[in-house]
Amino acid sequence: MAHTGEKCPTTGRWQGDDAHHTIEHMKAGDTFPPCSHCKRSVNYTFLG
Ligand SMILES: [Zn+2]
Repeated sequence: MAHTGEKCPTTGRWQGDDAHHTIEHMKAGDTFPPCSHCKRSVNYTFLG
């Protein structure tokens, strides 16, 4: 589990846990963004 503002530990797809369920394609070292729809902080789960 990761959160908006934290650094990404693992390259891959991460899914936000709010109602929009946005999927971000992240690289290790990138900073997790807010939800791209509602701009709120979200938790991310690694999809792979
Ligand atoms: Zn949202």
